[in-house]
Amino acid sequence: MSDTTGKSVGKIRISMDFECGWGSVEDGNWRSREAAGVYDTLRPAMRRYLDALDRFQVPCTWACVGAMIDDPKARDLSYLKGSYDRKTREFLAEAKPNTIDGRDLLAMIQATTCAQSFGTHSYSHMNFQDPEQDDAVARAEMENAARANGLRGIAHDRLVFPRNLFGHFDAVMAAGTTVARMPAHNATSGGGLLARAWASYARPPSPVLEQVDASSGLTLHYGSEFLNWGARAGGGKQALTKRRHTRALEAAARGADIHFWLHPCDLAETPGLDKHVETVLARIAILRDKGLVETVPF
Ligand SMILES: [Zn+2]
Repeated sequence: MSDTTGKSVGKIRISMDFECGWGSVEDGNWRSREAAGVYDTLRPAMRRYLDALDRFQVPCTWACVGAMIDDPKARDLSYLKGSYDRKTREFLAEAKPNTIDGRDLLAMIQATTCAQSFGTHSYSHMNFQDPEQDDAVARAEMENAARANGLRGIAHDRLVFPRNLFGHFDAVMAAGTTVARMPAHNATSGGGLLARAWASYARPPSPVLEQVDASSGLTLHYGSEFLNWGARAGGGKQALTKRRHTRALEAAARGADIHFWLHPCDLAETPGLDKHVETVLARIAILRDKGLVETVPF
């Protein structure tokens, strides 16, 4: 899209991996987060975030874990195999309701004045690279996700792969999901702390790139920037992350397509993050009101 001077208008997208305790069933971290009260404090944190989205009229795309918004009586995880099957059973037997159930949060999201958009984060937050889950499991996982979202009247055409670990593209397409968010195409991983800090400093903001997978037809949407510096990060990492966000906003103002993403529990457990996110939303609103960017769903 271009404005009247022919200069291209940037795009900004925000998405939320909407998951409560399901996001850490695989690594078991839901236990320590639950003990620390994270799934309780994320309720008021979400209220503040939603109020900010309304105040600045910035939409977010919510990639919902289906089992979290499903009626508990209809919840079906019978198709899972191996250790993830065992871990989800333990989770459902032992976790508190606020750790498992996000129907109250979805109701809050659906009551905002700024129109939100929706997608799926799979049904159980299954790792699509787990060697114990085969293609039939992936198909059941995606069919259940489509059913759970459908019952709540929300779309499932967009997928955020759990933990950004992608696979089973044919199963994703079979469920009617046509676009999947991938990691940033220039993301760095591995290396020591200094190497990663340097990479974070030096790597330019990564604009959205979309490619169609030739075999399955799935559109792979490479995202941009994680909107969090980590619950236990030091001041240096926090400063580097804020600097990256500033550079990403500047790139959007020059016409780039930038996709920020985060989790509800980030807002509850990273000190100072909620204020930073509000600042980013305020800056997005200023750029939009100047006509430099449009805020669009992922
Ligand atoms: Zn997740």
